Amino acid sequence: MKLQKLIGMSSKSKSKDKNYKKSERKVKKAKREKKIEDKNYDLLILGSGVAGLSAGIYAARYKLKTLIIGKDMGMAAEAPEIENYPGIYGVSGVQLVKKITEHAREMGAEIIYDEIENIEKIEGGFKVKTSTNEFFGKAIIYALGGMKRKLGLENENNFIGKGISYCATCDSRFFKDKIVAVLGGANSAATTSLLLSKYAKKVYLIHRRESLRADPTLIEKLKEAKNIEIIFNHVVKELKGDKRLEAVILENVATGEKREIKLDGIFVEFGYVPNSFLAEKIGVEICEDGRIKVNEDMSTNIEGFFAAGDITSGSNRLDQIITAAAEGAIAANSAYKYLSKK
Ligand SMILES: Cc1cc2nc3c(=O)[nH]c(=O)nc-3n(C[C@H](O)[C@H](O)[C@H](O)COP(=O)(O)OP(=O)(O)OC[C@H]3O[C@@H](n4cnc5c(N)ncnc54)[C@H](O)[C@@H]3O)c2cc1C
Repeated sequence: MKLQKLIGMSSKSKSKDKNYKKSERKVKKAKREKKIEDKNYDLLILGSGVAGLSAGIYAARYKLKTLIIGKDMGMAAEAPEIENYPGIYGVSGVQLVKKITEHAREMGAEIIYDEIENIEKIEGGFKVKTSTNEFFGKAIIYALGGMKRKLGLENENNFIGKGISYCATCDSRFFKDKIVAVLGGANSAATTSLLLSKYAKKVYLIHRRESLRADPTLIEKLKEAKNIEIIFNHVVKELKGDKRLEAVILENVATGEKREIKLDGIFVEFGYVPNSFLAEKIGVEICEDGRIKVNEDMSTNIEGFFAAGDITSGSNRLDQIITAAAEGAIAANSAYKYLSKK
């Protein structure tokens, strides 16, 4: 309708208008052009979690025509309560990410929710294919995060935030004087156990093998801690509890014998799987752990391709909201500098 007005038509008169057909063609052309124009951006930000949204806030303030594409609010939205973002205290992850989303929109970034299927390097930038569309950007900020490996038990999701955690830095404080178990056998399981031992009265470190893969210095510290007990050759088979997690059933992997442990929480430390495959496909350099290798300014080995958040090798791999936001801001600043020179 707006386009019809633009070219001087009203819906009443259009059938009588001799030039209607010509005008209609003009409308279609204008629509088509608008559509195409809408698909061209200075900056495409892939990922609508904290890193992508923060990048969007900065990019829009640099007056870059910016589109953020994501599937959802990202991992922070899974946090029942955020306690470690400066100045923001006692809000849920969903509340915080909603605010950041509003903020990005308010600053002028466009946001769409769609599945990103492919990225292609083209002359002058990149083409991003989603399940319903294609977009073009002179630069990209890749902030697709990743997934914490889960236990894989049927009722696991029911206990997230109610006894099950995947982030000791975020949630240790909630287990003061409680009994907890840490699942895993590598450095992350060891450091999580040591951190929790400062809060909880008892920490079980449960590992499926007969020895840990952690650094020897960490293993020494685990042995020294009075409230940490290591249980080898066991896996969690069952989660029990009414409203919160109350106990787990362990199975001895050698004998099949089962036993129950009463506890208040478990921390799953099975690792992190970065969503870096779409970047890898176009030749972006990937670290051994699957994260995108970034320079100090969040640039990668591909010109015009920046990355931010949990997906990167930056911030000493401290996967937190504060580092995701900071990396998003740095990436946007770097993209702005890059585009200004073009
Ligand atoms: C349960 C839990 C609790 C946590 N609690 C805290 C806490 O209290 N404090 C704290 O600082 N940190 C916490 N964290 C960590 C924090 O959530 C992350 O560090 C942060 O969210 C990382 O942000 P990101 O934007 O890099 O990645 P993500 O939040 O993972 O965002 C990735 C984005 O990419 C999108 N995406 C991925 N693939 C595609 C695709 N193919 N197409 C379209 N979109 C795609 C997703 O939709 C999402 O928008 C917690 C994490 C978890 C899991």
